[in-house]
Amino acid sequence: MLKPRFQVLARHAAGLRTRGLTTINTSRPLRKVVTTLLLGGTSAAVAAYFLLPDISRGAPTCDNIPLSPSHFTPAKLTSSTIVSSGTKILTVAIPPELLPKGSDLFSPIWSVFIKDDDIQVERPYTPLDGVDEDGNMRFWIKRYQHGEVSRWLYSKQVGDTIEIRGPLRTWSWKDDAWDEIILISGGTGITPFYQLLRTVFSGKSSFQGRITLLHSSRTPSELPPRDILDPLLKFAQHNPEKFRLKFFVDSFDETNGQSSTHIEVHKGRIGKNSICGALHSASRVPWWRGLFSQDSDVSDRKILFLVCGPEQMVEAIAGPYGRNYSQGPVGGVLRSLGCNSRQVWKL
Ligand SMILES: Cc1cc2nc3c(=O)[nH]c(=O)nc-3n(C[C@H](O)[C@H](O)[C@H](O)COP(=O)(O)OP(=O)(O)OC[C@H]3O[C@@H](n4cnc5c(N)ncnc54)[C@H](O)[C@@H]3O)c2cc1C
Repeated sequence: MLKPRFQVLARHAAGLRTRGLTTINTSRPLRKVVTTLLLGGTSAAVAAYFLLPDISRGAPTCDNIPLSPSHFTPAKLTSSTIVSSGTKILTVAIPPELLPKGSDLFSPIWSVFIKDDDIQVERPYTPLDGVDEDGNMRFWIKRYQHGEVSRWLYSKQVGDTIEIRGPLRTWSWKDDAWDEIILISGGTGITPFYQLLRTVFSGKSSFQGRITLLHSSRTPSELPPRDILDPLLKFAQHNPEKFRLKFFVDSFDETNGQSSTHIEVHKGRIGKNSICGALHSASRVPWWRGLFSQDSDVSDRKILFLVCGPEQMVEAIAGPYGRNYSQGPVGGVLRSLGCNSRQVWKL
């Protein structure tokens, strides 16, 4: 997850167009070669422009028809709270009369595109609690040092207008499709899982299986804020048979160590041991079986692995994305556990 897939492609196409224009003034001997390249480049750029799946380019802004993926809706930033270094919880509201009708539209997991008005670039963000009847959406956002949209969004003040379009389906939840679900997240990759867990454990779901969340951050101070952790801990407390969660950090903060957080945190990356340990079958099948066997008991069970986080993490756990950020084959740790492509989804 957490990569601006369509925009990278769109910007690439824009880059092609720009390069084509800047090569026009050149010397005569080079002109023929340049013309050929220019024609080729321009054709590629034009083709890319029309074929790439980015409908934001022409998406208008409308303030009098319901929120939809096909246009931007102006929303107000109604609250903004710094919750840790470089992260904020934002609440964004659209007028309630602009909420689209349709009960399935806002079933998990969905996101909205937020547009950086200054540079006309959009990125997807996940409303933590979905949207309420007053049109409020709450986001946990992280500012990346060189990030275009995240820095812009982080700098917004209460009262500012932010344009959004959506809802866009990230992945479709079904109550009865799986016996066991393992959610693996890194950084802000926890946001879609929070949205899902909140629905499942707030009495709106008839799910009877088990869910385990394995989350990792670089240090304890970069773990999700209490606004996210506390409800998750409560879900686990109230549903011990159905929901477990485990947190990992690459290293402990220099000054505070483990004591900087109110939850139990394990040092190290999420890997084969932790994933095997999370499987419910681990109580019946020795954990070491997964370490040595390509074909564990995973492939013939109704187990689903959802993975969401920085690209390197997704790759290590579930294999790289395919071309144009399609799912690609199952790789990494999950492949070595014998998982097939129906059991793994990279968000
Ligand atoms: C479906 C979906 C839902 C998302 N939901 C959320 C959400 O709720 N909250 C949230 O904060 N983000 C979320 N994201 C990520 C978000 O869309 C942006 O990718 C992120 O804010 C960075 O955008 P940017 O324009 O600032 O960075 P860019 O300009 O695209 O990237 C600049 C640099 O920032 C760094 N960078 C960017 N993203 C990451 C990353 N994920 N991990 C490590 N380094 C990175 C890289 O070094 C990169 O070179 C979601 C992504 C997806 C696909």
